[in-house]
Amino acid sequence: MNIETEEQREPVHDLNCDFCDKDLRSGELPPEFGVLRANWGPGSSHDGESYELRLCETCFFRILADVKRERLVRSMFDDYEEDHSELPHVF
Ligand SMILES: [Zn+2]
Repeated sequence: MNIETEEQREPVHDLNCDFCDKDLRSGELPPEFGVLRANWGPGSSHDGESYELRLCETCFFRILADVKRERLVRSMFDDYEEDHSELPHVF
């Protein structure tokens, strides 16, 4: 269980996208953002390091599209390796 004191909380005024620096606040509405978070442990080469990146809607979906594209490319490559009948004919 993580217990925070008042002094340990992040300042409320820092609400910008960590990728493009866009202000995440929108008028009176609560700020909306995606989070990329990691707490690396003893099995990692980054043991003890913690990250929390806030991403605006545009950057979040741009990164999500990159992940989907990378997965598609990797799956195409895997299929290419496993099914040699799909190789193009070379004349
Ligand atoms: Zn952004």
